[in-house]
Amino acid sequence: MNKIFFLGECMIELRRTDKTNMRQSFAGDVFNSAVYLKRCFNKVSCAMVTALGEDKLSTEMVEAFEQAGLDTGLVFRHPHKNAGLYAIETDDKGERSFTYWRSDSAARTLARFLDKKVLSAFKAGDLLFFSGISLAVIAPQDREVFWQKLSALKDAGAVLVFDPNYRARMWQSTDEAKYAFDKAFSMAQIALPGVEDLSALYGINDARGVIEYCQSHDIKEVVVKDGPNSVLSLSQGHIEHHTIVPNQNVVDTTSAGDAFNGVYLGARMNDLDIDKSIALAAKAASIVIQHSGAIAPKEAFTDGMSPLLSSE
Ligand code: ADP
Repeated sequence: MNKIFFLGECMIELRRTDKTNMRQSFAGDVFNSAVYLKRCFNKVSCAMVTALGEDKLSTEMVEAFEQAGLDTGLVFRHPHKNAGLYAIETDDKGERSFTYWRSDSAARTLARFLDKKVLSAFKAGDLLFFSGISLAVIAPQDREVFWQKLSALKDAGAVLVFDPNYRARMWQSTDEAKYAFDKAFSMAQIALPGVEDLSALYGINDARGVIEYCQSHDIKEVVVKDGPNSVLSLSQGHIEHHTIVPNQNVVDTTSAGDAFNGVYLGARMNDLDIDKSIALAAKAASIVIQHSGAIAPKEAFTDGMSPLLSSE
């Protein structure tokens, strides 16, 4: 079976527990996806592609990758920079706010580590998953080099998978984001966008519009997420609706899309069809939103998934 590489930034997460204490963990969109993929499809070989520092927390992050069963051969260590960090605070009304310290993180230099030797780790048919957050993290002056590396990987047979995951605050302007997204959509063979991602940038407000936007690019497989609304897929010119059962017990929607992406890709790598893969991905996302934080407790997650997975 082919391997999947998750390229982007994982950060140190600090979550306030009371006035003077914070709980520390690790999270980041592509890492979250890898964790959920691996929890459902243990046999799929998953690797992180990122840059960290040589600090102790970076070392602990590598250990967290290993504990999740992820290959760390392409986790680079920058000699002077450190891992990015963010804090989550929840106010009296339950509103969450995020503060980031990532503007000079090691991950911003990731493109510089992607030399010939690194690219040779990819075999034809392997998947490379990256997101709009991955793109925003890569320092603007390194992005042209990054596109060249992606292009070389694609020419060598890698399958590029893109989720735009738009975060306005990470971009200097909408034009900068649009340029990067257009480029990514034009290179990706699989796209997993959310309706929300494209509405702010392109004024596209429904899943059908997102599909039409993707049809203007040469993308083999598109799956459009839209919160509790139906998922729409496009494959071989065929558009299909997939019903989502809205969850009445939503605690925290953080990483719903990440869980969906990881499980969807794992299912497809196991040769499940698009409909079945979306059903598994939606179930995973539905479990994740019933727990707070990016990474739901392992036992609750696997217990929830096992009835669907055991029939495979
Ligand atoms: P993102 O995290 O990228 O914004 P979405 O909010 O679109 O992603 O949600 C991703 C997936 O999570 C949806 O396609 C759906 O399967 C699931 N999901 C999100 N919200 C709900 C909900 N309220 N009830 C059930 N499933 C949901």
